[in-house]
Amino acid sequence: MNGEIIAVGSELLLGQIANTNAKFISQQLAGIGVNVFYHTVVGDNAERLKRAVEIAESRSNLIIFTGGLGPTKDDLTKETIANHLGVKLIHNEAALVSIEEFFRKRNVTMTPNNRKQALVFEHAEVLPNDTGMAPGMVLTKNEITYMLLPGPPSEMEPMFSNYGMKAILNRLESIDRIESRVLRFFGIGESTLEHTLEDFIDQQTNPTIAPLASDGEVTLRLTAKHPSDLERRRLLDETEAKIMERVGEFFYGYDETTIIKEMGNLIESNNMTLSVAESLTGGLFQEEVTSIAGVSKWFKGGIVSYSPEIKINVLGVNPDTVETYGVVSKECAMEMAKNVRKLMDTDIGISFTGVAGPASLEGKEPGSVYIGVSFKNKPTASHFVLLPGNRETVRVRAVKTGAWYILK
Ligand code: ATP
Ligand code: MG
Repeated sequence: MNGEIIAVGSELLLGQIANTNAKFISQQLAGIGVNVFYHTVVGDNAERLKRAVEIAESRSNLIIFTGGLGPTKDDLTKETIANHLGVKLIHNEAALVSIEEFFRKRNVTMTPNNRKQALVFEHAEVLPNDTGMAPGMVLTKNEITYMLLPGPPSEMEPMFSNYGMKAILNRLESIDRIESRVLRFFGIGESTLEHTLEDFIDQQTNPTIAPLASDGEVTLRLTAKHPSDLERRRLLDETEAKIMERVGEFFYGYDETTIIKEMGNLIESNNMTLSVAESLTGGLFQEEVTSIAGVSKWFKGGIVSYSPEIKINVLGVNPDTVETYGVVSKECAMEMAKNVRKLMDTDIGISFTGVAGPASLEGKEPGSVYIGVSFKNKPTASHFVLLPGNRETVRVRAVKTGAWYILK
Protein backbone atom coordinates (compact mmCIF):
# COMPACT_ATOMS: atom_id res chain seq x y z
CA MET A 1 0.00 0.00 0.00
CA ASN A 2 1.33 3.42 -0.95
CA GLY A 3 0.10 6.29 1.19
CA GLU A 4 -0.03 9.97 0.46
CA ILE A 5 -1.10 12.87 2.64
CA ILE A 6 -2.86 16.00 1.43
CA ALA A 7 -3.10 18.73 4.04
CA VAL A 8 -5.71 21.34 3.12
CA GLY A 9 -5.53 24.87 4.48
CA SER A 10 -4.34 28.24 3.26
CA GLU A 11 -2.87 28.98 6.70
CA LEU A 12 -0.34 26.20 6.00
CA LEU A 13 0.70 27.81 2.74
CA LEU A 14 0.95 31.20 4.38
CA GLY A 15 3.37 29.75 6.87
CA GLN A 16 1.12 30.53 9.82
CA ILE A 17 1.20 26.94 11.06
CA ALA A 18 3.41 23.96 10.40
CA ASN A 19 2.05 20.79 8.85
CA THR A 20 2.30 18.70 12.00
CA ASN A 21 -0.64 16.56 10.87
CA ALA A 22 1.40 15.06 8.06
CA LYS A 23 4.26 14.39 10.47
CA PHE A 24 1.96 12.59 12.89
CA ILE A 25 0.20 10.50 10.26
CA SER A 26 3.46 9.57 8.55
CA GLN A 27 4.96 8.38 11.82
CA GLN A 28 1.95 6.22 12.56
CA LEU A 29 1.90 4.75 9.07
CA ALA A 30 5.64 3.99 9.21
CA GLY A 31 4.91 1.98 12.33
CA ILE A 32 2.66 -0.38 10.40
CA GLY A 33 4.86 -0.53 7.34
CA VAL A 34 2.77 1.65 5.02
CA ASN A 35 4.98 3.63 2.67
CA VAL A 36 4.30 7.34 2.46
CA PHE A 37 5.88 8.78 -0.65
CA TYR A 38 4.30 12.23 -0.87
CA HIS A 39 3.09 15.08 1.33
CA THR A 40 1.08 17.76 -0.42
CA VAL A 41 -0.19 21.04 0.98
CA VAL A 42 -2.95 22.81 -0.87
CA GLY A 43 -4.94 25.95 0.01
CA ASP A 44 -8.67 26.22 0.59
CA ASN A 45 -9.40 26.22 -3.12
CA ALA A 46 -11.62 23.64 -4.81
CA GLU A 47 -9.96 23.71 -8.21
CA ARG A 48 -6.41 23.26 -6.88
CA LEU A 49 -7.53 20.63 -4.40
CA LYS A 50 -9.16 18.67 -7.22
CA ARG A 51 -5.93 18.79 -9.20
CA ALA A 52 -3.92 17.61 -6.19
CA VAL A 53 -6.30 14.67 -5.81
CA GLU A 54 -5.97 13.67 -9.44
CA ILE A 55 -2.20 13.62 -9.15
CA ALA A 56 -2.38 11.60 -5.91
CA GLU A 57 -4.70 9.06 -7.53
CA SER A 58 -2.16 8.45 -10.27
CA ARG A 59 0.45 7.20 -7.79
CA SER A 60 -1.12 6.20 -4.46
CA ASN A 61 -3.82 3.85 -3.23
CA LEU A 62 -4.26 5.47 0.16
CA ILE A 63 -4.94 9.21 0.18
CA ILE A 64 -5.37 10.90 3.54
CA PHE A 65 -6.75 14.44 3.75
CA THR A 66 -6.64 16.67 6.79
CA GLY A 67 -8.46 19.96 7.25
CA GLY A 68 -11.48 21.64 5.79
CA LEU A 69 -14.17 19.52 7.42
CA GLY A 70 -15.52 22.40 9.50
CA PRO A 71 -18.75 24.40 9.09
CA THR A 72 -17.45 27.52 7.32
CA LYS A 73 -17.40 28.44 3.63
CA ASP A 74 -13.68 27.87 3.26
CA ASP A 75 -14.05 24.31 4.54
CA LEU A 76 -14.52 22.62 1.20
CA THR A 77 -12.59 19.34 1.33
CA LYS A 78 -15.65 17.12 1.70
CA GLU A 79 -17.69 18.80 -1.04
CA THR A 80 -14.78 18.85 -3.45
CA ILE A 81 -13.90 15.18 -3.01
CA ALA A 82 -17.57 14.12 -3.12
CA ASN A 83 -17.97 16.02 -6.33
CA HIS A 84 -14.82 14.56 -7.80
CA LEU A 85 -15.73 10.98 -6.88
CA GLY A 86 -19.37 11.40 -7.83
CA VAL A 87 -20.63 10.28 -4.42
CA LYS A 88 -23.58 11.71 -2.54
CA LEU A 89 -23.27 13.51 0.80
CA ILE A 90 -25.78 12.33 3.37
CA HIS A 91 -26.41 13.33 6.98
CA ASN A 92 -24.91 10.92 9.47
CA GLU A 93 -27.37 10.52 12.34
CA ALA A 94 -24.79 9.65 14.99
CA ALA A 95 -22.65 12.64 14.06
CA LEU A 96 -25.68 14.93 14.04
CA VAL A 97 -26.67 13.79 17.51
CA SER A 98 -23.19 14.35 18.88
CA ILE A 99 -22.96 17.81 17.28
CA GLU A 100 -26.30 18.80 18.83
CA GLU A 101 -25.06 17.49 22.14
CA PHE A 102 -21.85 19.48 21.79
CA PHE A 103 -23.89 22.70 21.56
CA ARG A 104 -26.40 21.73 24.24
CA LYS A 105 -23.63 21.00 26.73
CA ARG A 106 -22.11 24.41 26.12
CA ASN A 107 -25.49 26.15 26.13
CA VAL A 108 -24.84 27.69 22.72
CA THR A 109 -27.45 27.87 19.96
CA MET A 110 -26.54 25.76 16.99
CA THR A 111 -26.43 27.62 13.68
CA PRO A 112 -27.68 25.77 10.56
CA ASN A 113 -24.23 25.55 8.95
CA ASN A 114 -23.15 23.29 11.78
CA ARG A 115 -25.45 20.60 10.41
CA LYS A 116 -23.14 20.59 7.40
CA GLN A 117 -20.47 19.03 9.57
CA ALA A 118 -22.55 15.88 9.93
CA LEU A 119 -22.55 15.29 6.18
CA VAL A 120 -20.58 12.23 5.10
CA PHE A 121 -20.07 10.34 1.85
CA GLU A 122 -22.75 7.80 1.15
CA HIS A 123 -21.43 4.26 1.91
CA ALA A 124 -18.40 5.65 3.76
CA GLU A 125 -17.18 4.30 7.06
CA VAL A 126 -17.60 7.12 9.58
CA LEU A 127 -14.76 7.88 12.01
CA PRO A 128 -16.19 9.34 15.23
CA ASN A 129 -14.82 12.63 16.52
CA ASP A 130 -14.44 12.19 20.28
CA THR A 131 -12.85 15.58 20.81
CA GLY A 132 -14.76 17.83 18.41
CA MET A 133 -17.65 17.93 15.99
CA ALA A 134 -16.83 17.05 12.39
CA PRO A 135 -16.62 13.26 11.90
CA GLY A 136 -13.99 11.76 9.65
CA MET A 137 -14.66 9.20 6.94
CA VAL A 138 -13.10 6.49 4.84
CA LEU A 139 -14.22 5.29 1.46
CA THR A 140 -12.58 2.91 -0.96
CA LYS A 141 -13.40 3.45 -4.61
CA ASN A 142 -11.66 1.90 -7.63
CA GLU A 143 -9.04 0.33 -5.33
CA ILE A 144 -8.12 3.71 -3.85
CA THR A 145 -8.86 4.42 -0.19
CA TYR A 146 -9.76 8.02 0.65
CA MET A 147 -9.65 9.10 4.27
CA LEU A 148 -10.82 12.53 5.42
CA LEU A 149 -9.74 13.83 8.81
CA PRO A 150 -10.36 17.17 10.57
CA GLY A 151 -7.61 19.81 10.70
CA PRO A 152 -7.15 20.50 14.42
CA PRO A 153 -4.48 18.10 15.74
CA SER A 154 -6.46 17.67 18.97
CA GLU A 155 -9.25 16.12 16.88
CA MET A 156 -7.24 14.52 14.11
CA GLU A 157 -4.71 12.66 16.28
CA PRO A 158 -7.12 10.69 18.49
CA MET A 159 -9.41 10.03 15.55
CA PHE A 160 -6.59 8.69 13.44
CA SER A 161 -5.03 6.61 16.25
CA ASN A 162 -8.31 5.18 17.51
CA TYR A 163 -10.29 4.68 14.33
CA GLY A 164 -8.31 5.64 11.24
CA MET A 165 -5.44 3.21 11.82
CA LYS A 166 -7.91 0.37 12.32
CA ALA A 167 -9.59 1.14 9.03
CA ILE A 168 -6.21 1.13 7.28
CA LEU A 169 -5.17 -2.12 8.94
CA ASN A 170 -8.43 -3.72 7.82
CA ARG A 171 -7.83 -2.52 4.31
CA LEU A 172 -4.26 -3.81 4.42
CA GLU A 173 -5.42 -7.19 5.62
CA SER A 174 -7.77 -7.50 2.72
CA ILE A 175 -4.80 -7.00 0.41
CA ASP A 176 -1.79 -8.32 2.27
CA ARG A 177 -1.35 -9.27 5.87
CA ILE A 178 1.38 -7.49 7.74
CA GLU A 179 3.48 -8.51 10.68
CA SER A 180 6.08 -6.54 12.60
CA ARG A 181 9.00 -7.52 14.73
CA VAL A 182 11.03 -5.03 16.72
CA LEU A 183 14.73 -5.70 17.33
CA ARG A 184 16.22 -3.73 20.20
CA PHE A 185 19.85 -2.61 20.45
CA PHE A 186 21.97 -0.89 23.04
CA GLY A 187 25.49 0.46 23.04
CA ILE A 188 25.40 1.48 19.40
CA GLY A 189 24.34 4.93 18.18
CA GLU A 190 21.55 5.33 15.67
CA SER A 191 23.83 6.75 13.01
CA THR A 192 26.40 3.98 13.42
CA LEU A 193 23.71 1.34 13.24
CA GLU A 194 22.14 2.95 10.19
CA HIS A 195 25.50 3.36 8.56
CA THR A 196 26.40 -0.28 9.16
CA LEU A 197 23.12 -1.41 7.65
CA GLU A 198 22.67 1.37 5.09
CA ASP A 199 22.93 -0.62 1.88
CA PHE A 200 20.70 -3.25 3.35
CA ILE A 201 18.00 -0.88 4.65
CA ASP A 202 17.87 0.95 1.32
CA GLN A 203 17.38 -2.10 -0.89
CA GLN A 204 15.06 -3.87 1.51
CA THR A 205 11.37 -3.63 0.61
CA ASN A 206 9.79 -6.68 2.23
CA PRO A 207 10.24 -6.62 5.15
CA THR A 208 10.78 -2.89 5.42
CA ILE A 209 13.29 -1.82 8.06
CA ALA A 210 12.53 1.31 10.09
CA PRO A 211 15.16 2.51 12.59
CA LEU A 212 14.14 4.56 15.61
CA ALA A 213 16.26 5.97 18.44
CA SER A 214 15.25 7.01 21.93
CA ASP A 215 16.94 7.29 25.34
CA GLY A 216 20.21 5.83 24.16
CA GLU A 217 18.57 2.83 22.55
CA VAL A 218 17.99 2.02 18.91
CA THR A 219 15.26 -0.18 17.56
CA LEU A 220 14.70 -1.62 14.13
CA ARG A 221 11.13 -2.37 13.21
CA LEU A 222 10.87 -5.03 10.54
CA THR A 223 7.52 -5.16 8.81
CA ALA A 224 6.76 -7.99 6.45
CA LYS A 225 3.79 -8.17 4.11
CA HIS A 226 2.42 -11.39 2.75
CA PRO A 227 -0.94 -13.15 2.81
CA SER A 228 0.65 -16.35 4.20
CA ASP A 229 1.61 -16.56 7.89
CA LEU A 230 4.49 -18.91 7.19
CA GLU A 231 5.94 -16.82 4.44
CA ARG A 232 5.77 -13.65 6.56
CA ARG A 233 7.58 -15.40 9.37
CA ARG A 234 10.21 -16.67 6.94
CA LEU A 235 10.80 -13.18 5.52
CA LEU A 236 11.24 -11.75 9.02
CA ASP A 237 13.60 -14.54 10.15
CA GLU A 238 15.73 -14.19 7.07
CA THR A 239 16.13 -10.42 7.44
CA GLU A 240 16.75 -10.68 11.16
CA ALA A 241 19.56 -13.17 10.57
CA LYS A 242 21.23 -10.81 8.11
CA ILE A 243 20.99 -7.90 10.55
CA MET A 244 22.40 -10.00 13.40
CA GLU A 245 25.42 -10.91 11.31
CA ARG A 246 26.43 -7.27 11.34
CA VAL A 247 25.19 -5.83 14.63
CA GLY A 248 24.22 -8.87 16.69
CA GLU A 249 26.61 -7.97 19.50
CA PHE A 250 24.44 -4.95 20.34
CA PHE A 251 21.13 -6.83 20.29
CA TYR A 252 19.32 -7.40 23.56
CA GLY A 253 15.70 -8.30 22.90
CA TYR A 254 12.49 -8.27 20.91
CA ASP A 255 9.38 -6.10 20.78
CA GLU A 256 8.26 -4.56 24.07
CA THR A 257 11.06 -5.83 26.33
CA THR A 258 13.54 -3.55 28.16
CA ILE A 259 17.21 -3.94 29.05
CA ILE A 260 16.31 -4.12 32.72
CA LYS A 261 13.83 -6.94 32.07
CA GLU A 262 16.35 -8.88 30.01
CA MET A 263 18.94 -8.43 32.74
CA GLY A 264 16.42 -9.75 35.27
CA ASN A 265 15.60 -12.78 33.11
CA LEU A 266 19.28 -13.62 32.84
CA ILE A 267 19.93 -13.28 36.57
CA GLU A 268 16.84 -15.28 37.44
CA SER A 269 17.55 -18.09 34.97
CA ASN A 270 21.02 -18.44 36.52
CA ASN A 271 19.50 -18.59 40.00
CA MET A 272 21.47 -15.54 41.02
CA THR A 273 20.69 -12.48 43.11
CA LEU A 274 21.49 -8.80 42.75
CA SER A 275 22.03 -5.79 44.99
CA VAL A 276 22.92 -2.21 44.13
CA ALA A 277 24.72 0.82 45.55
CA GLU A 278 23.56 4.02 43.91
CA SER A 279 25.03 7.46 43.97
CA LEU A 280 24.23 9.60 40.93
CA THR A 281 21.19 7.49 40.01
CA GLY A 282 19.71 8.15 43.46
CA GLY A 283 17.48 5.09 43.50
CA LEU A 284 16.49 5.13 39.84
CA PHE A 285 18.01 1.70 39.25
CA GLN A 286 15.98 0.26 42.11
CA GLU A 287 12.87 2.03 40.84
CA GLU A 288 13.33 0.47 37.40
CA VAL A 289 14.13 -2.98 38.75
CA THR A 290 11.28 -3.12 41.24
CA SER A 291 8.71 -2.06 38.66
CA ILE A 292 9.10 -5.55 37.18
CA ALA A 293 6.67 -8.10 38.62
CA GLY A 294 8.24 -11.06 40.43
CA VAL A 295 11.52 -9.25 40.96
CA SER A 296 11.88 -10.38 44.60
CA LYS A 297 13.20 -13.73 43.35
CA TRP A 298 16.46 -12.16 42.23
CA PHE A 299 16.67 -8.62 43.59
CA LYS A 300 17.53 -8.25 47.27
CA GLY A 301 17.90 -4.52 47.81
CA GLY A 302 20.02 -1.45 47.49
CA ILE A 303 21.54 1.53 49.18
CA VAL A 304 21.31 5.08 47.98
CA SER A 305 24.65 6.42 49.17
CA TYR A 306 24.59 9.91 47.84
CA SER A 307 27.05 11.64 50.16
CA PRO A 308 30.67 10.58 50.76
CA GLU A 309 29.88 9.96 54.47
CA ILE A 310 27.19 7.42 53.61
CA LYS A 311 29.53 5.72 51.16
CA ILE A 312 32.07 5.44 53.94
CA ASN A 313 29.90 4.88 57.03
CA VAL A 314 27.15 2.71 55.59
CA LEU A 315 28.75 1.02 52.60
CA GLY A 316 32.16 0.76 54.16
CA VAL A 317 34.07 2.44 51.35
CA ASN A 318 37.63 3.12 52.52
CA PRO A 319 38.05 6.83 53.46
CA ASP A 320 41.47 6.74 51.79
CA THR A 321 39.83 5.75 48.50
CA VAL A 322 37.56 8.79 48.69
CA GLU A 323 40.48 10.99 49.76
CA THR A 324 42.87 9.78 47.07
CA TYR A 325 40.66 9.15 44.05
CA GLY A 326 37.40 10.99 44.85
CA VAL A 327 33.90 9.55 44.80
CA VAL A 328 33.66 9.81 41.03
CA SER A 329 36.30 7.20 40.41
CA LYS A 330 36.85 3.67 39.27
CA GLU A 331 38.18 2.77 42.70
CA CYS A 332 35.15 4.07 44.54
CA ALA A 333 32.73 2.37 42.11
CA MET A 334 34.50 -0.95 42.61
CA GLU A 335 34.40 -0.73 46.38
CA MET A 336 30.74 0.29 46.34
CA ALA A 337 29.80 -2.71 44.16
CA LYS A 338 31.84 -5.19 46.11
CA ASN A 339 30.75 -3.93 49.52
CA VAL A 340 27.05 -3.88 48.72
CA ARG A 341 27.32 -7.42 47.35
CA LYS A 342 28.87 -8.60 50.61
CA LEU A 343 26.58 -6.53 52.79
CA MET A 344 23.47 -7.96 51.15
CA ASP A 345 24.94 -11.38 50.47
CA THR A 346 24.10 -11.48 46.78
CA ASP A 347 25.84 -13.06 43.77
CA ILE A 348 26.12 -9.74 41.97
CA GLY A 349 26.65 -6.20 43.22
CA ILE A 350 26.41 -3.20 40.95
CA SER A 351 27.18 0.43 41.67
CA PHE A 352 26.72 3.81 40.05
CA THR A 353 28.78 6.88 40.80
CA GLY A 354 29.32 9.87 38.57
CA VAL A 355 28.35 13.37 37.59
CA ALA A 356 24.75 13.84 36.45
CA GLY A 357 25.33 17.56 35.90
CA PRO A 358 24.78 20.33 35.11
CA ALA A 359 27.90 21.26 37.12
CA SER A 360 31.19 19.37 37.07
CA LEU A 361 32.38 17.45 40.13
CA GLU A 362 35.89 16.63 41.26
CA GLY A 363 37.09 18.05 37.95
CA LYS A 364 35.05 15.51 35.98
CA GLU A 365 32.61 16.74 33.35
CA PRO A 366 28.85 16.08 33.51
CA GLY A 367 27.94 12.69 32.10
CA SER A 368 31.05 10.99 33.52
CA VAL A 369 29.84 7.76 35.08
CA TYR A 370 31.64 4.85 36.71
CA ILE A 371 29.71 1.60 37.00
CA GLY A 372 31.13 -1.07 39.27
CA VAL A 373 30.16 -4.70 38.73
CA SER A 374 31.12 -7.29 41.29
CA PHE A 375 30.46 -10.99 40.80
CA LYS A 376 31.23 -13.60 43.44
CA ASN A 377 34.46 -15.45 42.57
CA LYS A 378 35.47 -12.89 39.95
CA PRO A 379 37.61 -9.78 40.17
CA THR A 380 35.42 -6.68 40.54
CA ALA A 381 35.32 -4.53 37.43
CA SER A 382 34.54 -0.91 36.78
CA HIS A 383 33.43 0.61 33.51
CA PHE A 384 33.69 4.25 32.60
CA VAL A 385 31.18 5.87 30.28
CA LEU A 386 30.71 9.46 29.21
CA LEU A 387 26.98 9.82 28.65
CA PRO A 388 25.42 12.63 26.60
CA GLY A 389 22.40 14.65 27.64
CA ASN A 390 21.01 16.59 30.56
CA ARG A 391 20.84 15.49 34.19
CA GLU A 392 17.76 13.32 33.71
CA THR A 393 19.00 11.68 30.52
CA VAL A 394 22.37 10.92 32.05
CA ARG A 395 20.71 9.18 35.00
CA VAL A 396 18.35 7.15 32.79
CA ARG A 397 21.16 6.13 30.48
CA ALA A 398 23.43 5.21 33.37
CA VAL A 399 20.82 2.76 34.66
CA LYS A 400 20.46 1.14 31.24
CA THR A 401 24.21 0.99 30.77
CA GLY A 402 24.60 -0.79 34.10
CA ALA A 403 22.00 -3.38 33.14
CA TRP A 404 23.77 -3.79 29.81
CA TYR A 405 27.10 -4.58 31.53
CA ILE A 406 25.45 -7.30 33.57
CA LEU A 407 23.75 -8.68 30.45
CA LYS A 408 26.97 -8.87 28.49
P1 ATP B 1 -12.60 23.28 12.10
O1 ATP B 1 -13.89 22.59 12.36
O2 ATP B 1 -11.86 23.64 13.37
O3 ATP B 1 -12.72 24.40 11.12
P2 ATP B 1 -11.38 21.84 9.94
O4 ATP B 1 -11.40 20.37 9.77
O5 ATP B 1 -12.22 22.64 9.02
O6 ATP B 1 -11.66 22.15 11.45
P3 ATP B 1 -9.29 23.61 9.23
O7 ATP B 1 -10.32 24.69 9.26
O8 ATP B 1 -8.62 23.36 7.94
O9 ATP B 1 -9.89 22.26 9.77
O10 ATP B 1 -8.17 23.86 10.31
C1 ATP B 1 -8.52 24.16 11.63
C2 ATP B 1 -7.26 24.36 12.46
O11 ATP B 1 -6.58 23.13 12.57
C3 ATP B 1 -6.22 25.27 11.84
O12 ATP B 1 -6.43 26.60 12.14
C4 ATP B 1 -4.94 24.78 12.46
O13 ATP B 1 -4.80 25.31 13.75
C5 ATP B 1 -5.18 23.31 12.55
N1 ATP B 1 -4.62 22.59 11.40
C6 ATP B 1 -5.19 22.42 10.19
N2 ATP B 1 -4.42 21.72 9.37
C7 ATP B 1 -3.30 21.40 10.06
C8 ATP B 1 -2.11 20.68 9.76
N3 ATP B 1 -1.93 20.10 8.57
N4 ATP B 1 -1.17 20.56 10.72
C9 ATP B 1 -1.37 21.13 11.93
N5 ATP B 1 -2.46 21.83 12.27
C10 ATP B 1 -3.43 21.97 11.35
MG1 MG C 1 -12.22 24.90 9.30
